[in-house]
Amino acid sequence: MRIEEAKDLLNSIPRVSIGFFPTPLQRLDSLSEEYGVEFFMKRDDLSGPEFGGNKIRKLEYLLADAVREGCDHVFTFGAHQSNHARETAAACRKCGLQPVLYLTKLGNASGSEEILGNLLLDHVLGADVHCVSPAPGLSAYEAVVHSQAAASEHAARLERSGHRCYMVPVGGFNPTGCLGFAAGLVELIAQARDIGAEPDYIMLATGSGGTLAGMLAGKRLLGAHADVLGFSVDAEPDGKKQTIAETATNTLALLDICDRIDPREVFIDSSYYGEGYEIPSRESTSALLEVARREGIILDPVYTAKAMAGTLDYIRTGKIASGKTVVFWHTGGTPATFAEPEIAGVCDAI
Ligand SMILES: *Cc1c(COP(=O)(O)O)cnc(C)c1O
Repeated sequence: MRIEEAKDLLNSIPRVSIGFFPTPLQRLDSLSEEYGVEFFMKRDDLSGPEFGGNKIRKLEYLLADAVREGCDHVFTFGAHQSNHARETAAACRKCGLQPVLYLTKLGNASGSEEILGNLLLDHVLGADVHCVSPAPGLSAYEAVVHSQAAASEHAARLERSGHRCYMVPVGGFNPTGCLGFAAGLVELIAQARDIGAEPDYIMLATGSGGTLAGMLAGKRLLGAHADVLGFSVDAEPDGKKQTIAETATNTLALLDICDRIDPREVFIDSSYYGEGYEIPSRESTSALLEVARREGIILDPVYTAKAMAGTLDYIRTGKIASGKTVVFWHTGGTPATFAEPEIAGVCDAI
């Protein structure tokens, strides 16, 4: 499908305008020279409406759905320092909706009780914030999913008193949300072609998997050749590739495209998250500092620094050959940098 056709198709589904798109596609001159690749960064950390991030693209479709259903409250879930929850709160305010956040205290970092970073912004935005303790023995992602039970009871109470509630899943990970990244992929390819470039690789951090699923749907729409590689920020639960492939397939179905994405098309590398979610590794801290000092761009420690550690390693070890065009997708997360020195991981290095 041609780019214009894909854009028209994606615009045929209701969407509210929340962010600033297209986000910049910036060439990383110093890193390109150092590593011998054509290195670009897609700056979704600048997607707005405040500190940006990748969830804004998904929320443009999800909140349009909430408005269409006549909802007045929007629930979502995440870790204490969730970017997704903060982006949902801001996006809700722009649409006149009340955000309700169920946030799980993961307790990896000592300062997690403090109202800083994303959590501070949640309160500034007037979100109804509920902090829940994780059930023992669950991974970060599973613990967050678990908090949905308490939220469902809360929503049921609100509905009995005449409100209408909309549930945005963890990370905005469902076919409606993923439409945002099908559109994101199309936006990137259009921008790249405008400057005569065609990405060979698109590198990103993967949490819920929604961003990756959406991009695979967008790639299929255009028949683009770029390899899309996700770097996991936590242990990968069983069946994750299957879920991502199914969600990408269902995203295409929303566009009336009956194509199937196979789990073998989903590439996730889980070797760069270190000890776990929100725990910086030596490699991620070093990648964060290298990008800051060479390009003046701040990565976030939880997601993008780990994906950059993987990306730089792929280039250094020749998994990505020299001369290739590599787009690193900056998915945001800036406010987490201001939350806790332990999360930022840079204290020993500065
Ligand atoms: C949520 C998030 C991701 C992961 O996106 P998914 O769609 O959940 O895989 C990556 N980077 C940042 C900064 C995020 O907030």
